[in-house]
Amino acid sequence: MRKKLIAGNWKMNGSVAANEALVEGLLAGIGTPVCQVGLCVPSVYLAQCQALVAGSVIELGAQDVSQHERGAFTGEVSCAMLKEFGVRYCLVGHSERRQYHFETDAVVAAKAQRALACGITPIVCVGETLAEREAGKTEEVVKRQLAAVIHANGHCISEIVVAYEPIWAIGTGKTASSEQAQQVHAVLRSQLQAASNQAGRIQILYGGSMNAANAAQLLAQPDIDGGLVGGAALKASEFLSIIACTH
Ligand code: PEP
Repeated sequence: MRKKLIAGNWKMNGSVAANEALVEGLLAGIGTPVCQVGLCVPSVYLAQCQALVAGSVIELGAQDVSQHERGAFTGEVSCAMLKEFGVRYCLVGHSERRQYHFETDAVVAAKAQRALACGITPIVCVGETLAEREAGKTEEVVKRQLAAVIHANGHCISEIVVAYEPIWAIGTGKTASSEQAQQVHAVLRSQLQAASNQAGRIQILYGGSMNAANAAQLLAQPDIDGGLVGGAALKASEFLSIIACTH
């Protein structure tokens, strides 16, 4: 049985004061969740958040990482650097990175490989645009994105987390229905199964306007193993309500 994972993606939000209030609010209400909980925070706040979540059930995540090990890559952050701050998870291939920073499937696969080599769990994000969905290309797109990561990582694939995030549902308030999401998750699951006999343990998260009102139905689907939560992760009460849906 796969444990569920609820991971918050703060994106480029927060401040020293706001982070403290948010994490304190989470710690006050989190108790002993049955799921795993992660917070993917901006890199500059990793040290602060590492201290804030120390000794708690909340694990730390980053939102991106360099595909390179070290060197002349101004502005980039390496896996080894993330490791120094206790980072357990790292998003790779978030659609905003693919869209605004032109990250290709090959770059995303290299980032996942780098994270795995450092002992950081990459949360590999895949998802289609609205135009691709309307053209009936959803499966083709997500399978192509995941195939690059499978190809580059071989048997290590069982150590990744996958997040299916339809781009048309991210930050728009439009959620994929639980049936639409489950359908894609099942496709991803069988692709993983074909690549690894350990695929049954890989968590596949749903992301895209998940909130306290729709989480229970999404999380009840057999292949939805958690959520990658953007906007709703910025309010402690909302994020806690989503975590509570995993009970
Ligand atoms: C995300 O960016 O990963 C995300 C799922 O955002 P939101 O929940 O705000 O749609």
